[in-house]
Amino acid sequence: MTEHDAPVVVALNAELCIGVGNCELLAPDHFRIDDDTAVAELIGDGAMTLAAAEEVVDRCPSGALSISPTA
Ligand code: SF4
Repeated sequence: MTEHDAPVVVALNAELCIGVGNCELLAPDHFRIDDDTAVAELIGDGAMTLAAAEEVVDRCPSGALSISPTA
């Protein structure tokens, strides 16, 4: 396993989300935009590889997403 394959968890702070939708576009298995609130929500527990997590966090313009190591 390389560092990029390392398992991490992405956390969503919905209060910071501005509903741009990059997370849903990049990782539709993990995020969706709520039709009513126009805020992202996590699908599942946010577990993904470090490479996937870094990409989605980097593309979030509001800083609503963050990476935590798995326990
Ligand atoms: S990319 Fe960030 S601001 Fe945009 S919908 Fe996802 S969490 Fe919200």
